[in-house]
Amino acid sequence: RFPAILIQKDDDRGQRVETVALALDDLMEGDVVIRVSHSTINYKDGLAITGAAPVVRRWPMIPGIDFAGVVESSDNPEFKPGDQVVLNGWGVGETHYGGYAGKARVKGDWLIHLPAGLTAAQAMAIGTAGYTAMLSVLALERQGVTAERGPVVVTGAAGGVGSVAIAILSKLGYHVVAATGRLGEADYLKGLGAAEVIDRQELAGKPRPLNKERFAGGIDAVGSTTLANILSMTRYGGSVAACGLAGGMDLPTSVAPFILRGVSLIGIDSVMAPKARRIEAYDRLVRDLDQAKLAAMTRTIPLAEVVAVAPDILAGKVRGRIVVEVGG
Ligand code: NAP
Repeated sequence: RFPAILIQKDDDRGQRVETVALALDDLMEGDVVIRVSHSTINYKDGLAITGAAPVVRRWPMIPGIDFAGVVESSDNPEFKPGDQVVLNGWGVGETHYGGYAGKARVKGDWLIHLPAGLTAAQAMAIGTAGYTAMLSVLALERQGVTAERGPVVVTGAAGGVGSVAIAILSKLGYHVVAATGRLGEADYLKGLGAAEVIDRQELAGKPRPLNKERFAGGIDAVGSTTLANILSMTRYGGSVAACGLAGGMDLPTSVAPFILRGVSLIGIDSVMAPKARRIEAYDRLVRDLDQAKLAAMTRTIPLAEVVAVAPDILAGKVRGRIVVEVGG
């Protein structure tokens, strides 16, 4: 048997989270069984564990949208026992049992081989947050937002997506403007490579249709008025990658940035992203994410602490990334 965090739904009292001991037969269907060594805590895991938003869509559920580990058995020709693998998204931790368990059984199609150059712990330090940061950088590159074009703003800077985005962009030579509500973390953000640290309040007022042109591009993990303000401040022909909603799901903007400045708003989804794009993102993470910076933004906790830390990530109290040690 192996330990697992299980979320149950009680009709009268909402949801209940407990640690249980499960057997392989308790897991859901799949063609690959993995011994999970590491997982992580993303914003979405915080939502699932606290029940703050309807992330979990099947009950009961083992949360944890990411995991890394070693294949124990496989009916999938791409994977054999002993292979090191990584999983991000695909509804794991939402509709299919996730990473906060000593073992997982999933579709092999959802797995990628652990990229050469990363340990399982480093892959989970990256996690969905970091892989989404890379997808966002790739999207800006495809739009022609190169380092020479001008400053790029990163919102939710001290969070997981933000911290990884800053580290990648700075290594690629961008002038990174980090927007944070935690100005006390300015040294941390500069250490990751931010050229400027600004108060997120500068991006929080009622958005005007157009504002002074400030940024060639942006990676936004916050949404709502923050994203609307960034769009109004994006330079002619610039692009903004929208990947998060830590500040809200609405978007109180106008068409002005799009039709008067040719600004592009690019949507980023990590959950259902095709395998080829995932592999591209991981190749680039191996190359363009400084491992010392990744280590500096990461702390490690045991599985037993996950439930206690979950509310902190929603409260914006977690800095950078958290690795969860699940098993050996
Ligand atoms: P995180 O570590 O909690 O980072 C979020 C950051 O946003 C916080 O650290 C905080 O940064 C800022 N923030 C929090 N509440 C805010 C508020 N009310 N107003 C303005 N800023 C606020 O979470 P994460 O794991 O990096 O995820 C960030 C967002 O991206 C989440 O919304 C998540 O759901 C989304 N996401 C989406 C995808 C996708 O596939 N599209 C993938 C991964 C994550 P400061 O303290 O620096 O201000």
